[in-house]
Amino acid sequence: MSRTADVVVIGSGAVGASVAFYLAGRGARITLLDASTPGRATSASAGGLWPLGESLGLGCGVIFHAARKSGDAAVPSESEGPEPLPGKFMDFLCESNGLFPALAAELRSLSGVDIEAESGTGLLYLLYDEEQQRHARRIVDLVGDDRTRVEEWSAEQVWKRDPLITRDLRGAVYFPGDNQVNPMLLAEGLKRGACAKGGRFVAEARVTGLQIAGERVVAVESSRGTFECGAVVNAAGAWAGQIARLAGIEIPVHPVRGQIVCTETLRPGTLRSNLSTRDCYILQKTHGEVIIGSTTERCDFDVSVRYENLRDLAAGAVRAVPALRDVTVKRTWAGLRPGVPDELPILGRAAEIPNFFHATGGFRTGIVAAPLTGQLVAAEVLGESLPFPIDMFLASRFQKSATGSVPSAHA
Ligand SMILES: Cc1cc2nc3c(=O)[nH]c(=O)nc-3n(C[C@H](O)[C@H](O)[C@H](O)COP(=O)(O)OP(=O)(O)OC[C@H]3O[C@@H](n4cnc5c(N)ncnc54)[C@H](O)[C@@H]3O)c2cc1C
Repeated sequence: MSRTADVVVIGSGAVGASVAFYLAGRGARITLLDASTPGRATSASAGGLWPLGESLGLGCGVIFHAARKSGDAAVPSESEGPEPLPGKFMDFLCESNGLFPALAAELRSLSGVDIEAESGTGLLYLLYDEEQQRHARRIVDLVGDDRTRVEEWSAEQVWKRDPLITRDLRGAVYFPGDNQVNPMLLAEGLKRGACAKGGRFVAEARVTGLQIAGERVVAVESSRGTFECGAVVNAAGAWAGQIARLAGIEIPVHPVRGQIVCTETLRPGTLRSNLSTRDCYILQKTHGEVIIGSTTERCDFDVSVRYENLRDLAAGAVRAVPALRDVTVKRTWAGLRPGVPDELPILGRAAEIPNFFHATGGFRTGIVAAPLTGQLVAAEVLGESLPFPIDMFLASRFQKSATGSVPSAHA
């Protein structure tokens, strides 16, 4: 097997597979390496495509906010409710979300993989009390009057669409464009698509070293041999800090554990919408299982699940959809999100080593962001014009200010 590539991509989660796919599509000779590390975020993910819900803080952000309030997160919060991420990041996620229909069709014809990208489910953020209603109204105002993006619903509207939702409800915020995908099939389709375009995937290849000559990486050492290269993309998810360190580079990526409860298969369409609440989110997947997620916990690469967390998630789900009380839990699992202090990805060329590129920090939106992240990093590697401004994602934003502080998305 040839051990020379234009670009070696480390990590075949949704992000690395996407970068490899778009690089291969531009004619670059790519080699994609993966160590099959337990806890890979893509395999644990719920697969919500929630560009608005998440960037406004009304998806997993609600749970993350509670963790920050309780001190169980790297960056504590002082605000009363979940905080929105920067508007430019919302644009980034919306643009990436818009790429899914065409990508799904392309991957189906190239690789035969159906990534199960749904449209029309939408995301309902359930409001249980007045305080939540007030907070939601402030958040909705940030989006403006565009009713194709966000709507305020009465409880009656919610029950008409989803009759199983609790009667103990004040209303909801509905995001019609926020849908879902199968995250594992997304990564698999992108990986196979990259191979169909001439790329190569090497499984069980744990990267252990980088050979540097002058200011350039010239080869990647792995458990499956050494690969010479013209450039390296670090898409190792929560482990990206370890890979960067092999090049002598520090990036503030840390693992954020997410635990998930998965139920037995229910009749598809039992829940018509993706649901989010202050306790948990709930998605019925294409084949009928219901995913209830997810904790956002500081952890040290520990992927165990805890009874008390799973019980809390299940209780939150039963509060939202009382009929779930009679449903059996089939599986539970945990995965590690690549967390970054300001909740934004770290993308682009490393200042220290010009042929080393970051593609990490997807945190709780790495699946919805994967298509545009792949396009952006591929263009950056190839020196082409960028499909979206990259400045806000550069690692250089973490260079210490005169006060020694690192930026927060909410500063
Ligand atoms: C419970 C949970 C729910 C989530 N829900 C959503 C959601 O609904 N919507 C959404 O958009 N996002 C969601 N996310 C976030 C999303 O899953 C992640 O942001 C995204 O999957 C990150 O992808 P990645 O490719 O960067 O990392 P990963 O998927 O973790 O992939 C990294 C890869 O790097 C490999 N690797 C690590 N070290 C090495 C090494 N030394 N050598 C070679 N390979 C290595 C690993 O084996 C792994 O395959 C969720 C995450 C979790 C945990």
